[in-house]
Amino acid sequence: MKEKEQASGSAAGPARSCSTCGDTSCQEARRKDGESDRDFQDRQALQSRLCRIGSKIIVLSGKGGVGKSTVAVNLAAALRLAGKRVGLLDVDIHGPSIPTMLGLEGVSIRAGGDGMVPVDLNGLKVMSLGFLLGNQDEAVIWRGPMKMQVIRQFLKDVEWGELDVLVIDSPPGTGDEPLSVCQLIGKLDGAVVVTTPQKVAAVDVRKSITFCRRLQVPVLGVLENMSGFACPACGAVTQIFRDGGGKKIAEDMNVPFLGSVPIDPNIAVAGDGGRVFLEEFVSTPTAAIMRRIIEKTEESRTKNRKK
Ligand code: ADP
Repeated sequence: MKEKEQASGSAAGPARSCSTCGDTSCQEARRKDGESDRDFQDRQALQSRLCRIGSKIIVLSGKGGVGKSTVAVNLAAALRLAGKRVGLLDVDIHGPSIPTMLGLEGVSIRAGGDGMVPVDLNGLKVMSLGFLLGNQDEAVIWRGPMKMQVIRQFLKDVEWGELDVLVIDSPPGTGDEPLSVCQLIGKLDGAVVVTTPQKVAAVDVRKSITFCRRLQVPVLGVLENMSGFACPACGAVTQIFRDGGGKKIAEDMNVPFLGSVPIDPNIAVAGDGGRVFLEEFVSTPTAAIMRRIIEKTEESRTKNRKK
């Protein structure tokens, strides 16, 4: 309820510009040192849209292929099922997989009066860079500044309207691309850091947590994905790699540990088939694990909001 009030309370009708907002204390309305006219206007245009969103959560990972998009999709879908107004934004320029995971491949984006209209999937508003990249291989050959320009333009042009929560599927790593996304979005309510149990992933997850700290993004928690294998017949989990790595890092770095999701063939089946795992495999033990993790994420987010 509080979130709804906040989201609608900050809205003053359709698309506003920051200059017409009455909040004189808002830092976003001030020009940053060295910011050009164009950058300032772009940032204001983006902020005027983002002001209408109650909470922004980013899903990060040290590298690709660890299940970041899977987590983003299921988190967004679960929040939607809980009755919230939710947006899902896929800015993973190297592998925008959300269209495939939601069965939205080949969908064309409609232009609204003031930008691009997200796709409405049973009430979940979805926008992905994948909708715009005709050929996904193209992004791979773009130089850094070009990628930043695409990300910036994309973020600025989406007509979200009012939302309670926006879930953002970030580019992987801790380089320029996730950095640009975090800086452009401005105040984030928190980050979910996704990792895998192998030792090599430990370095990456520490980097992701340090990245969040530098940018003053609260870490909602670490999620260890692909942790053991869930038997399709009985759901019992067998450990394949060493386990407990994610938990240990979370403890060492003093951030919440959200839990471990096993490798479950049904997750891959759902993702490849364009369906949401939590909706398709509701009564499996892995779905129960995932729901508990999402509850913990929400607890962490609520706690941070009260601080
Ligand atoms: P990322 O966004 O980190 O690149 P994805 O979410 O796209 O990773 O996941 C990569 C692949 O692994 C996808 O095919 C997805 O369905 C699969 N996957 C992710 N998590 C699991 C899991 N726990 N069990 C089985 N398959 C998984």
